Amino acid sequence: MAQFDTILHPDFVVPMVPHRQVLQGISVALSGGRIAALLKESEARAEIASEHIELPGCALMPGLINLHCHSAMALLRGYADDLPLMTWLQRYIWPTEQRFISPEFVRDGSDLAIADLLLGGTTTLVDNYFFPEMTAEAADAAGIRALLAFPVIDVATAWARDANECINRGLALRDRYRNHDRITIGFGPHSTYMVSEQILSRIAVLSEELDAPIQIHLHETREEVLGVVERTGLRPIDLLEQLGVLGPRTQCVHMTALGDQDIERVAKHGAHVIHCPRSNLKLGAGICPVQKLLDQGVNVALGTDGAASNNRLSMLGELQIASLIGKTRHEDPKAVSAWTSLEMATLNGAKALGCEDQLGSIEVGKAADLIAIDVSGVQHSPRHDLASTLVYSTNGGEVCWSWVAGQTLVRDGKLQTLDTTDLAHRATRWSEQLDTFRETLEP
Ligand SMILES: [Zn+2]
Repeated sequence: MAQFDTILHPDFVVPMVPHRQVLQGISVALSGGRIAALLKESEARAEIASEHIELPGCALMPGLINLHCHSAMALLRGYADDLPLMTWLQRYIWPTEQRFISPEFVRDGSDLAIADLLLGGTTTLVDNYFFPEMTAEAADAAGIRALLAFPVIDVATAWARDANECINRGLALRDRYRNHDRITIGFGPHSTYMVSEQILSRIAVLSEELDAPIQIHLHETREEVLGVVERTGLRPIDLLEQLGVLGPRTQCVHMTALGDQDIERVAKHGAHVIHCPRSNLKLGAGICPVQKLLDQGVNVALGTDGAASNNRLSMLGELQIASLIGKTRHEDPKAVSAWTSLEMATLNGAKALGCEDQLGSIEVGKAADLIAIDVSGVQHSPRHDLASTLVYSTNGGEVCWSWVAGQTLVRDGKLQTLDTTDLAHRATRWSEQLDTFRETLEP
């Protein structure tokens, strides 16, 4: 009987732990969905395994952890572009969601998104959208790891009449996936402007009781902060503190409009910041002060946000932008180095999920969630510094292999659990209906 399920032979291993090292001449053995051993290549080739996979020209690293997405919005990719956040939401996104959101829409959009996510290096997805039951089924079928932060919102949607029904449906979903090894369920209250204080307090209590994460859009724009101050007298983060929502289970998404006191607040409570650089740039929302947050000891992880405000779902592309705009934000080329971005997409993502003992690095015993990135192209040569190559020289499309819990999901650039032709057909069917509806919306 084979000692290992699979042994991978890449040119480079970027394990993330030990920190900031690149290994050569090392093979990685997988067994039972976990990383079983790091072996000298010469010895690994003599080991018995069900499969030896050659990865010439590839860097093997932990799968990327995408902390914020609205998968089903992949069907709204390019639907309403070049608009400010509130115009984009109120005139286009919300009326369209009102008209179209259904289990079928969410399943097709989630499948489309997961294909894109896998090809961009994501192996763990945190998703927040209506009918999370369907995204959970899509994630289950595709093999990706996922936290569904089920949406909680005060207004009626096709999924739930009000915030309390959102919570009831979300908790029922949590029960259903209680013993699933890849899928977990947490709370996704939209924001302090779409969810009442009473509901936010209830979520704080439930999250603690159930030890379940909370993900919330926070300080996305200056207008959001001003609006909440006008209504409540408190900045959104102070309101969350008062309601007991801020803590180490809380993931604060965006956080562009921050003063020093806001940074102190998030650091004090050990809450996590989820930086979505491309979405922030596209919506002109602002730029999260990532280096300043990290310097204050705040854990910052990365997300793509939905394809409607990105429009890609490539985490490899996202970490490049994170480094580039981090420098611009701080007017300092040393800010948000290549290694810092790689850490945000792996170790910090795992920490934000409370899964640092399972995910985020290539260490024996951790889940076999891995990606291989082809760095053999002329645009990657020469490779003086592999972290620099991975972050600054890639175009986002170099992910050629992906494994989650040891299962191969991308093999030599091809998706193994999703059919791209079928996905394209389903997307086209929706786009015809969506385009007709868009013509009825006010410009
Ligand atoms: Zn979002």
